[in-house]
Amino acid sequence: MSEQQKLSDTKIAEFDAIYKNRKQPMCKNCNTSEHVIPCIRGKPSRELSIYATMNKDHVALCGCTQPYIAWCKKCENYIEDPED
Ligand SMILES: [Zn+2]
Repeated sequence: MSEQQKLSDTKIAEFDAIYKNRKQPMCKNCNTSEHVIPCIRGKPSRELSIYATMNKDHVALCGCTQPYIAWCKKCENYIEDPED
């Protein structure tokens, strides 16, 4: 791993606090939130995109124009924000 691809432990802990403990919506397909991970909307910062690459099981990146808030790993299905 190159120097550029590293994050400080502080930064990792900060992102973990935001994304790992977030309550996830249900996937309409499998009716559980068990396989659902948060979606990062918009253009991620360099650090956030490194974090997403390191933690593909915990967060997914999605485009800035999409109304998605989460991703079901099992169904490979994006979940939209019902509030939108
Ligand atoms: Zn699902």
